[in-house]
Amino acid sequence: MTMEHGEDCCVKVAVHVRPLIGDEKLQGCKDCVAIVPGKPQVQIGSHSFTFDHVYGSTGTPSVAMFDQCVAPLVDGLFQGYNATVLAYGQTGSGKTYTMGTACKEGSHIGIIPRAMATLFDKIESLKSQVEFQLRVSFIEILKEEVRDLLDPTAATVGKVENGNGHAKLSMPGKPPVQIREASNGVITLAGSTEVHVSTQKEMTACLEQGSLSRATGSTNMNNQSSRSHAIFTITLEQMRKTDPIMTADGMPIEEMNEDYLCAKLHLVDLAGSERAKRTGSDGLRFKEGVHINRGLLALGNVISALGDEKKRKEGAHVPYRDSKLTRLLQDSLGGNSKTVMIACISPADINAEETLNTLKYANRAR
Ligand code: ADP
Ligand code: MG
Repeated sequence: MTMEHGEDCCVKVAVHVRPLIGDEKLQGCKDCVAIVPGKPQVQIGSHSFTFDHVYGSTGTPSVAMFDQCVAPLVDGLFQGYNATVLAYGQTGSGKTYTMGTACKEGSHIGIIPRAMATLFDKIESLKSQVEFQLRVSFIEILKEEVRDLLDPTAATVGKVENGNGHAKLSMPGKPPVQIREASNGVITLAGSTEVHVSTQKEMTACLEQGSLSRATGSTNMNNQSSRSHAIFTITLEQMRKTDPIMTADGMPIEEMNEDYLCAKLHLVDLAGSERAKRTGSDGLRFKEGVHINRGLLALGNVISALGDEKKRKEGAHVPYRDSKLTRLLQDSLGGNSKTVMIACISPADINAEETLNTLKYANRAR
């Protein structure tokens, strides 16, 4: 399979600047982040950063963001390319809002629901030639442990199977999910629920069910703080029903040029990037903070290694094994996969230090 490497490859980085929200306005916060008009550039204090895209809160940023950053990844699935969308940022910066992981956010539609709609539209238009099968899983990584958010003992959505395709009902207190790597490099999750879905409604039900069971903990930064990485994964399998239609020189003119393709899209709502010390925590919570940082640290190192063209050509080591997060995403970051990181930031002056940290982290990913 061929794919344009180089300019179109690897990791794209976008920044999403949310508006000042209620709490910040009440505290009299000032807006300290400027978007340079007509450029994908943000400024904070004396620092200036350029990314692939920058979205503010005017116009319809979520539509533009989806069309420019995520729609190409959904299209790529139909050609067999894995993809990952990552929302990075401190707690309260808008990761869940941007991803649409929590579903209910007034009239706002996040990336995950939009990806679903695009996916089902495309399936509808191709289903006379291709047979499709869709599966979803939804897990979270907390303290370097993988937890199944679609555990059927909590509720039942659709047909529940384990990774081997056998019907399975998990018992309370079941062992944590294991990340496995097959000899062909494909990463699977042993012991996590995969739900077969055939409609957008069924897929949405999985998103809602998993969001409800996602662990949240309270810290003094935000009592809805999420200390876990939440990963919603859509796996698309395609089987050709008809012979491909060829051009005169024997090239298939349909998008799908193989008889069977399987690809997955990971939609990741990362844990808050704030430093453990800022949450004022100690003991247990501090340990969680340290582990969260391990995932985010490893992710930063992996993405920066992937983005370094020179190192990549020399076959430099990409440290996927340093965390559960990077291990899980290993076959969907780098190589032929497409990755988009959306760095979410608050414009409030009280968050300036964390905002600068987020922009530096995102800048390293380019
Ligand atoms: P995170 O998941 O990063 O902790 P949230 O997505 O929960 O942050 O966002 C924190 C608060 O800010 C929520 O009340 C959310 O509704 C609001 N918010 C986030 N992004 C935006 C935006 N672009 N426009 C308006 N409100 C937003
Ligand atoms: Mg969140």
